[in-house]
Amino acid sequence: MAEPDAADFLRICRLPGAWARQPAWRLLDTCFGNAARFLGVWEAWQQDPDRPALLHYVGLSQQALLPELLLGAAHQTPGRRALASALAEQCQGLGPGFHRISLHHGQLLLTLCVGELQPMLRQQRFDADAIFLDPGPAGLVEGAPWNLFGIKALARLARRESRLALPANRPAWTDAALKQCGFVLDPGLELAAAGLAGAEFQPAWHLKIGPSTAAAAVPGAGARCAVVGGGLAGASVAAALARRGWQVQVLDAAELPACGASSLPVGLAVPHVSVDDCALSRLSRSGLRLLLAQAQALLRPGQDWHASGVLERDFEPDGPATDRWHAQACWVKPAALVQAWLAQPGVQFAGRCRVASLRRQAQHWDLLGDRGQLLASAQRVVLANAHALPALLQACRRAEPGLDIAEPPRALTAVHGQLSWALHSAQAGQGLGPFPPFPVNGAGSLLPWVPLAGSQAWYAGATYSAAQDPQQTEQQGHQANLARLTALLPELGRQLAPLFAAQQVQAWRNTRCVSADRLPLLGPLSNGPDLGLWVCTAMGSRGLMFSVLCAELLAAMWGGEPLPVEARLAKQLEALRGRQRPAQPAAAGALGVAGRPMPR
Ligand SMILES: Cc1cc2nc3c(=O)[nH]c(=O)nc-3n(C[C@H](O)[C@H](O)[C@H](O)COP(=O)(O)OP(=O)(O)OC[C@H]3O[C@@H](n4cnc5c(N)ncnc54)[C@H](O)[C@@H]3O)c2cc1C
Repeated sequence: MAEPDAADFLRICRLPGAWARQPAWRLLDTCFGNAARFLGVWEAWQQDPDRPALLHYVGLSQQALLPELLLGAAHQTPGRRALASALAEQCQGLGPGFHRISLHHGQLLLTLCVGELQPMLRQQRFDADAIFLDPGPAGLVEGAPWNLFGIKALARLARRESRLALPANRPAWTDAALKQCGFVLDPGLELAAAGLAGAEFQPAWHLKIGPSTAAAAVPGAGARCAVVGGGLAGASVAAALARRGWQVQVLDAAELPACGASSLPVGLAVPHVSVDDCALSRLSRSGLRLLLAQAQALLRPGQDWHASGVLERDFEPDGPATDRWHAQACWVKPAALVQAWLAQPGVQFAGRCRVASLRRQAQHWDLLGDRGQLLASAQRVVLANAHALPALLQACRRAEPGLDIAEPPRALTAVHGQLSWALHSAQAGQGLGPFPPFPVNGAGSLLPWVPLAGSQAWYAGATYSAAQDPQQTEQQGHQANLARLTALLPELGRQLAPLFAAQQVQAWRNTRCVSADRLPLLGPLSNGPDLGLWVCTAMGSRGLMFSVLCAELLAAMWGGEPLPVEARLAKQLEALRGRQRPAQPAAAGALGVAGRPMPR
């Protein structure tokens, strides 16, 4: 019997017909293997003029997908070999966990989940439209991982009428388990030659609201969302929603976008590393992968961003420095990224629009200015206004005392910071020391070569001082940055000291918005039913990586799409985390939208 091809799996799942002209389609593949099936599906999707605008493919794999494995596999056609090469380019560092790989200008999203089958299934929060149950070489022998619980885990991810493709030749326990879990085998759907059978999820019982059922109640494509704040956080959310068909208006108090902390001239994106690979480390890696995809798609390499790699230098007390090379790390000019996001079709920016309060109407929110004037109306609102969030939330609570709007987060801190910088050309003839060819990061950081106005600039930073600390002068900030630089790169620090002394170094100063655990806040701002008012803020010192991650998470939660990270990691970002939630009267004050639940 021939090995089933991707086309056989598609046929069993009534594809491509079933996905025709759908806004999104979600496939789950229990055995990603060497990606042969995925490449076949990718090819079929690409060639289909009626393809869904967004295809999600969630592939489970016990082993990391190595580029060599992909390129070495005997892919059937030159077309598939070309796709394999495109995929291989993004397959660096795929260790255990979830990895979101963005392909075909972000219209094909592959979520590769590396780990044991059942734990990986438990971390999913979406309703699959079709499931490929491929048990791998071991077959469906009853035991771990394929047993009643494995089938139950699949059923939890199915929506009514989801299609399931599975081996035709299978042991008897499987059919009993399928039936018990709500799958109905369809004898008309056997592909004997390919050894495949088909089933449909048609449980006899009422289904509890699942991610996509809830998402269907959220206003979908063409609906309006207003975003308060046109920095990295707001612009990223706007672009992620617009890619899914939303009309998004971004309002900012400033005349132009990226005028707050996102006016940072250039920032580093380096994964956080910890011995226990904590949530911050894992989230930063996921964010970096998403950021790289956005930068590649939208920015000018070498001008707006550079996949430079970054040397991380850690110092043990009284010990030598430990160096670690992050090949995937990069620098990015945040304003260029913000502008690129705001230029996406479906996004509109409105400057000089300080939102002073919000007013609830029957099916939407009104956003009001300082004089109570109407600035915008939208079904959903995302507050991405950094440390100005608490004041706006207070105003909303005062304006709408009957609504269950959460109290402003107590633990948001404003942390001021300064970068010191200069153009290389300005130092001609000053006998400059050895600038490394790549950025160096540690207790401070140096970006040695960044194109600016036809020349090259260097940036050293950064200082941290909490809002309640005495305000540092620019000169104090420069001295602190020089001290950091000298600790990081002693020779360069010594050689740059005269430049600092001669006050030939410029300063850039702004304020970060930081949460108590250094993780962003993302989610609905109500303790009970979702009022359609969300927050996306507290990007801390990692706005580049976290803004993209939060935007993709928000869009996935609103659209019932697969999450780009494990559900337990997404939960760590919950906006109201760590709070006692008072019991709520059912649906009181809700906007008539079913809440997108945060990951359970
Ligand atoms: C010194 C320093 C160095 C840094 N280095 C790095 C780095 O190397 N890498 C990195 O990733 N990150 C770095 N960061 C952090 C990064 O700059 C921030 O995380 C990021 O810019 C935050 O983006 P944001 O959109 O949340 O906030 P902001 O960019 O501050 O945007 C908030 C916006 O909300 C608007 N707003 C506020 N209230 C209202 C209202 N009521 N109505 C309408 N609009 C409103 C503001 O005008 C502002 O434009 C650094 C920050 C500093 C200060």
